[in-house]
Amino acid sequence: MIRVEHLSKHFGPVAVLTDVNAHIRQGEVISIIGPSGTGKSTFLRCLNLLDQPSSGRILIDGQDILAAGVKVAQLRQRMGMVFQSFNLFPHLTALGNLCIGPVQLRGHSRVQAAARGLELLKMVGLAEKAHSLPHELSGGQKQRVAIARCLSMEPEIILFDEPTSALDPTMVGEVLAVIRRLARDGMTLAIVTHEMDFARQVSSRVFYMDQGIIYEEGPPQQIFEAPQQQRTRDFIRRVR
Ligand code: ATP
Ligand code: MG
Repeated sequence: MIRVEHLSKHFGPVAVLTDVNAHIRQGEVISIIGPSGTGKSTFLRCLNLLDQPSSGRILIDGQDILAAGVKVAQLRQRMGMVFQSFNLFPHLTALGNLCIGPVQLRGHSRVQAAARGLELLKMVGLAEKAHSLPHELSGGQKQRVAIARCLSMEPEIILFDEPTSALDPTMVGEVLAVIRRLARDGMTLAIVTHEMDFARQVSSRVFYMDQGIIYEEGPPQQIFEAPQQQRTRDFIRRVR
């Protein structure tokens, strides 16, 4: 579904990603782990062009998204993204946050968008919060609304950048439960996370990123139990 070839990204003279190659198949759950500052967020942000790659190719179903004429807005509808900091529209209710995309970008009627929005809020366990504003919600609730908002655009893949890092520990579980459910339902997911137990349980494959490359990738059993590279071993030992 997604193929990344020779992707590099520099910020000025600083090389953040160097010749990254990867593929993500439909229905896979990819966890991206690794030390701080090694390019995990930049990698995700390049996939949906929040950061412009310096060189390389990113193919989605064979189509190069860096080619001239590719519409970034359309691309972002296919690839949803959930951030550490929720990024909800503060002046809109939970339901309002879920309706705005389908109405403004996909031409759905308000009635249609609200009906679907309520279904999605129910799915993330927040039907009773439909009319609450973001500041009236807990961190875990805000993040579940953010995930539902992402789903409202019917993406083909969702990119998560440390979705639980800003949360009080008591709220991490409720957000991970929603992501687990998406994984079980067959959604394609790429998740940057420091939640190692979660990554181990939910992933089909794990990318270990270090110094701007995917240093090692493999099934969770390999990465967590029998890493092939010394750097991966050191990292896993440190975070365990
Ligand atoms: P963390 O685990 O702390 O979130 P990360 O692996 O996600 O780290 P990135 O955010 O991708 O790391 O950053 C990789 C490197 O690129 C860092 O050294 C960072 O300072 C640098 N960087 C990221 N964004 C920019 C930017 N917009 N301008 C300049 N440098 C940047
Ligand atoms: Mg990051």
